Amino acid sequence: MTSYNSFETARRQILEAAEILKLDKSTTDLLIQPQREYTFTMPVMLDSGAIEIMTGFRIQYNTARGPAKGGIRFHPEETIDTIRALSCWMTWKAAVSDLPLGGGKGGVICNPKHLSVKELERVARAYIRAVADFIGTEKDIPAPDVYTNPQTMAWMMDEYETIVRKHSSGILTDKPMQIGGTEGRRDATSRGGVITVREACRHYGIKPDTFIVQGFGNAGQRAALLHKEILGGGKLIAASDSKSAVYNPNGIDPMELVRHKLTTGSLKGFKGAEEAERDSILELEADVLYPAALENAINETNAHKIRSKLVCELANGPTTPEADEILFANGIHVLPDLLASAGGVIVSYFEMVQDSSFIFWEEDIVHKALDKKITKAFHSVVQSQKEKRVHPRLAALIVGVARVAEACKLRGWV
Ligand code: NAD
Repeated sequence: MTSYNSFETARRQILEAAEILKLDKSTTDLLIQPQREYTFTMPVMLDSGAIEIMTGFRIQYNTARGPAKGGIRFHPEETIDTIRALSCWMTWKAAVSDLPLGGGKGGVICNPKHLSVKELERVARAYIRAVADFIGTEKDIPAPDVYTNPQTMAWMMDEYETIVRKHSSGILTDKPMQIGGTEGRRDATSRGGVITVREACRHYGIKPDTFIVQGFGNAGQRAALLHKEILGGGKLIAASDSKSAVYNPNGIDPMELVRHKLTTGSLKGFKGAEEAERDSILELEADVLYPAALENAINETNAHKIRSKLVCELANGPTTPEADEILFANGIHVLPDLLASAGGVIVSYFEMVQDSSFIFWEEDIVHKALDKKITKAFHSVVQSQKEKRVHPRLAALIVGVARVAEACKLRGWV
């Protein structure tokens, strides 16, 4: 299979969008590189008393539309190029949903599986000490990402407040509810994805009667539970995780499967379905396929075997560029990650609004506001697809790039 440097992919995408939008050279040159990058060393004391010097990154890719927004990853294979690509995609994602935010991302090269809770806390605090001057509620607002979570955000917020000597809960989002987090954040990504499925089904005349979830983790489980609630019906016929898969053409009870996964840690041995080969479930016939695991799950080797009518990308980057072309040629509708997984950043933005106003919303208000934002984003992408006659991923990118380019122009940057 072709291997990718994510930032090269991201740059190729921008050049393609820039050509269609007929952007001038200075605008294109500005958009194909990060506005600001910060790489630093972080001494972290381990429980043994030894000091490990870790490397951290924070990138503000483009802030023409507002302060940078994006997660912080703790990962042993983190690279500056991955962070560049992810901060770039965050820029377009925020713009597609018309949020007044730019794109950012950060990371630390470390292996959280080899660190104790106390060591993880020290990594989180050391990271904030390193970036405290670089971030801010009106500059750059981080959030969790791979191997970081609301607890990491709580430590980071506390360290930041210690440095600036005042409360500043809006400095990070996806915090625990007790310290400035929002209602509706836990299922925001999945809820946003299922809402885009609802809109797509109405638009393309699809009945979402059957669906498959590839990657039965946080995002996948919540999508399985919300599919019926939001769409008024629909049978889960197959699901997979990293080790196994289950299949039942008569339907699997999503709640039972969530309980089984929680109690046993796996899908194996679930009574309500038969075992299936993990990757084969991607190729089953269904109305909707939710890829919710890792990158490149749908690629040049299996794309021509996909038989779902609609693919809703809850995961980041689950479809390779080659696979995209194949799905488009086969008439399969893809809801690209820039749109379908934007629910998380949309509700993070609502968290920022609540933190700055000190007024906290009821859950149904968050759900309604998310529905409105992502529904509008879906229709902007459909409009772009119609006007430019391109596949949905490029259509979404064009919406995002055009909005950021316009903001750069209005500011007189280009
Ligand atoms: P998670 O770790 O909770 O779940 C991932 C699941 O995928 C796990 O159950 C894992 O076993 C499974 N998996 C791994 N490899 C697999 C494979 N080859 N085949 C089938 N299943 C496999 O992670 P998550 O938070 O649910 O995130 C999943 C994806 O959604 C990621 O791409 C993430 O970037 C994206 N996403 C998540 C959120 C969020 O709010 N959780 C927001 C935006 C995007």
